[in-house]
Amino acid sequence: MSVRIAVLPGDGIGPEVVAAAQRVLQRIADIGGYTFVFEEALLGGCAIDATGSPLPDRTLGVCEDSDAILLGAVGGPRWSDPSLPVRPEQGLLGLRQHFTLFANLRPVKVFPALIPHAPLRPELLADGVDILFVRELTGGIYFGERREQGSGDSAYDTLYYTVAEVERVAHVAFKAAQQRRRKVTSVDKANVLAAMRLWRRTVHNVARDYPDVELEDVLVDACTMHLMRRPASFDVILADNMFGDILSDESATLAGSLGMLPSASLGEGTFGLYEPIHGSAPDIAGKGIANPIGTILSAAMLLRYSLGLAEEASLIEQAVETVLESGLRTADINLGGQKAASTAEMTDAILAQLPA
Ligand code: NAD
Repeated sequence: MSVRIAVLPGDGIGPEVVAAAQRVLQRIADIGGYTFVFEEALLGGCAIDATGSPLPDRTLGVCEDSDAILLGAVGGPRWSDPSLPVRPEQGLLGLRQHFTLFANLRPVKVFPALIPHAPLRPELLADGVDILFVRELTGGIYFGERREQGSGDSAYDTLYYTVAEVERVAHVAFKAAQQRRRKVTSVDKANVLAAMRLWRRTVHNVARDYPDVELEDVLVDACTMHLMRRPASFDVILADNMFGDILSDESATLAGSLGMLPSASLGEGTFGLYEPIHGSAPDIAGKGIANPIGTILSAAMLLRYSLGLAEEASLIEQAVETVLESGLRTADINLGGQKAASTAEMTDAILAQLPA
């Protein structure tokens, strides 16, 4: 098998964590006798500096010629002035829109070894928290018509969904649940919002195609509480663009550090964009201490969803779990008492758990 992977390191710690994930992917290629061709390109602040655009044409071309994209993070203080005409995040949004990556998958798993780092009481996490968020990514209130009116004394945003937009992301959630614990929790605000009544009705129609999957409706306000009170009861959580954004960030705190969590953004086919959920962490950039696990687990998702290499993905996930159980910690997940591992040391330890 020969595949092309676009590598967009981005800004801040992006290049450091992407280099770590690339080493892991190369090892998987070596083990399986596959050829992974990595093509690097600019995105975000570094692309603005070099070309004036956060998403240069060459980058788009490299991604179009690839089977998947591995991304680090974009942004930083140098480009954060809101009055600047172009901003790094526009590169990321541009990519998502260009490839119609409408389903954002964010697994939130609390590794038993990291329970002491979570802000919740250990007994609430003891049953094992393993949630997959499926967030609609290219519609809803973030993309509806908006306007600031008059002299700025009124403004509106539009929450707009079509049945087709809800259907396609709901199918992703139900299919994922079939591979997991067969439960979908659909989050909405159907008691107040018309677009959310359309959401609920459509999700229920899609659910008829998946009689083996249990469907639960939860109002978003109740969901914020349930996530803290009974996080282990969730399997797949399906949410629209805004609620999914907020709830997945809330749940990320359970994992102990932003540096732990991966994500995948998918469209209709197997093509996908894979990135850790954290940002460019300018406060630690260049120090070689960033936690590479979120990006390494994103690379595992790339193998599973874009390349169909589920066994290899599990190998990586198991290697991460074993290393955490061994007690090795980067600074962000270190409770003290031992010297924290560098990005390279953590990556070496994960590689050491994979077949040579
Ligand atoms: P951030 O995620 O970059 O950092 C928040 C805190 O978490 C920092 O203290 C940081 O050191 C720590 N952290 C994050 N990732 C870590 C890792 N892998 N290992 C160890 N510690 C880690 O969020 P922020 O500080 O709000 O944003 C910084 C920049 O990143 C901003 O310009 C923001 O716009 C951008 N950003 C980009 C993305 C993206 O590219 N998808 C996402 C969020 C923020």
